[in-house]
Amino acid sequence: MTGLFVTGTDTDVGKTVITAGLLRALRLAGCSARAIKPVQTGVDADTHPYNDTQCYTEALTALPKFPELHSLAPACGFRFRLAASPHLAARQEGQRLTVSDICGRLRDFPAPFALLEGAGGALVPLNESETMLDLMAALGLPVLLVARNGLGAINHVLLTVQALSQRGLRLAGLVVTRTAPLPENDDERLVLADNLACWRAQPGIPAVWEVPFMPDLGNAAAALENRLKVWDAVAHCLAPLAKQLVHNPQDATTETLTDRDRRVLWHPYTSAVNPLPVYEAASTSGTRITLADGRQVVDGMASWWCAVHGYGHPRLVQAVQEQVGRMSHVMFGGLTHKPAVRLAERLLEWLPEGLSRVFWSDSGSVSVEVALKMALQFQRSQGRDRTRILAPRGGYHGDTIGAMAVCDPENGMHSLFTGLVNEHLFVPRPSCRFDAQYDPASTQELEAAFTEHGSELAAVILEPIVQGAGGMWFYHPEYLRCVSALCQQYDVLLIADEVATGFGRTGKGFACEWAGITPDILCCGKALTGGMLSLAGTACTERVARGICANGHVFMHGPTFMGNALACRVAEASLELLRDNNWPEQVAALESGLRLGLAPCAAHPDVVDVRVLGGIGVVECRNPVNIAELQRFFVKQGVWIRPFNRLIYLMPPYVTTSADLRRLTEVILMALEHGVHRV
Ligand code: PLP
Repeated sequence: MTGLFVTGTDTDVGKTVITAGLLRALRLAGCSARAIKPVQTGVDADTHPYNDTQCYTEALTALPKFPELHSLAPACGFRFRLAASPHLAARQEGQRLTVSDICGRLRDFPAPFALLEGAGGALVPLNESETMLDLMAALGLPVLLVARNGLGAINHVLLTVQALSQRGLRLAGLVVTRTAPLPENDDERLVLADNLACWRAQPGIPAVWEVPFMPDLGNAAAALENRLKVWDAVAHCLAPLAKQLVHNPQDATTETLTDRDRRVLWHPYTSAVNPLPVYEAASTSGTRITLADGRQVVDGMASWWCAVHGYGHPRLVQAVQEQVGRMSHVMFGGLTHKPAVRLAERLLEWLPEGLSRVFWSDSGSVSVEVALKMALQFQRSQGRDRTRILAPRGGYHGDTIGAMAVCDPENGMHSLFTGLVNEHLFVPRPSCRFDAQYDPASTQELEAAFTEHGSELAAVILEPIVQGAGGMWFYHPEYLRCVSALCQQYDVLLIADEVATGFGRTGKGFACEWAGITPDILCCGKALTGGMLSLAGTACTERVARGICANGHVFMHGPTFMGNALACRVAEASLELLRDNNWPEQVAALESGLRLGLAPCAAHPDVVDVRVLGGIGVVECRNPVNIAELQRFFVKQGVWIRPFNRLIYLMPPYVTTSADLRRLTEVILMALEHGVHRV
């Protein structure tokens, strides 16, 4: 949707006349705008005929018609008789309003440019848990704030501006109205002028427009002729805002965001010229993603393993807000701070015993680069020229060049980068399933590789227990124990890449715990900040740290955003939240829901395997699936699932309810039954 949301600091501040006046100004500026009132209370056709939508219609009197708006009259979504807050007015009529229902109805009101007028102020309740602000956030439109100039207005305006900003809403500006003539008294005049000066000086308010007192403004009793003069006067005051909206293509064009996206952006693992479709996300809350067209989908992906607490958890939001006011970022060279130190202490409590030092970086891939560099520098410090890394096939460690070189050579398309990526040593994917009787034959080739190349190896890198993006494969803990023992025997470092598996996802705090091993180096990221910000860590043992730093050497790495204070603070809050929410219980509930819900998929002839571990559920198909069609189907069914290659899989937020989990698994089964997965 393209347009503007008009809200007020309070009820009766003049929102409707400003919406109607702006509608007139926009039409005069050549914009085919339409005004819509999503919820109106106090509408009684008998006693209150001059309602808000009639006001919009009147403001359009004597204007040229726009052909594209021919059949589009000003519109109203939900109307209630009682002049009260929407939650109460709806309740009185035995109804319950929701953001989702309102967005659904707005979809039926097409408008090239929509002027949406809210009811009351930002925090007016729609029901017992949602407010007008939630509606604004779901729509994601820029917001125009209307305030009445008077005593106490500074506070009302600034509180509303703060609330909008905290929900990530962009303020288009402030319109200041007067509902009484200018006072005679000098002191009162001083207050009004100072209010305006104060708002104009606020960096959070991009523009302030003033509409002076007009006796016939919104006055139903005034003669129509006089009211029309008023509409012209209001439109004149708002003409600069209308021009700005018309000339700012972001707000005024009908080109969709996805069209613009296609022109200027590139998305992961897809073509720039013929990309897979993308959906516009307007906002997120809890386990829901609201799309720009108002549809809400249940998140089944936790945004690629990150959003374990769902989206916008109040404790994480509060942590960000507190920290951003204090210190968002400061260079880590020569400076330190509480969030970085405290988070390292907390993280080490989560990690296998023996890991004692943390290096912060900004993404999982970089944490892997750091780990590989640590291993190479460590070997050099021991006087050994060991530069080869051993990795099982089927692994994924990130997309930077060093990380890519240790990803599965086929999935990672090493052939595309011959000469650029180092040629490391690969052994077959760990073949023994997590839940099978252990087969000692599954480590034969691994043992042979150590016998032949053990003295050349700097390190082994693997994803413990769950190979994620390389195939969502769960393997036996005994394999991991065997790798760890071989590493010790040949004095090769073991790097556990727990970027995806960390923080409870597999049912253990970190997946190494399934085998009871401590790696020499461990990478983590993704869920570390609960999905709020990008942060990763590489932890190592004291032996590795001291080895690298022996004889006055230093570790050669230092990302600009290392130890970002904001990310560290929110990560600390996320770890606390995991503990307080009893994550083992949450993940166990996910596991049983996924097992129950996905089991019927195994009977489908196109499915070769269904597997579940902790909060991960995988349906593996015989052939690559039709990603675009499946996604279209999933969104239509109200769920967000992103398949890849032959896999349709779920890793929902830990806070997912059993009903939502049922829905997610049901829809996968439905897609298979309808053959949507077939290319
Ligand atoms: N390592 C593993 C195991 C991963 O799953 C990923 C990402 O999916 C990465 C590393 C790379 O992390 P990032 O995408 O944050 O660079």
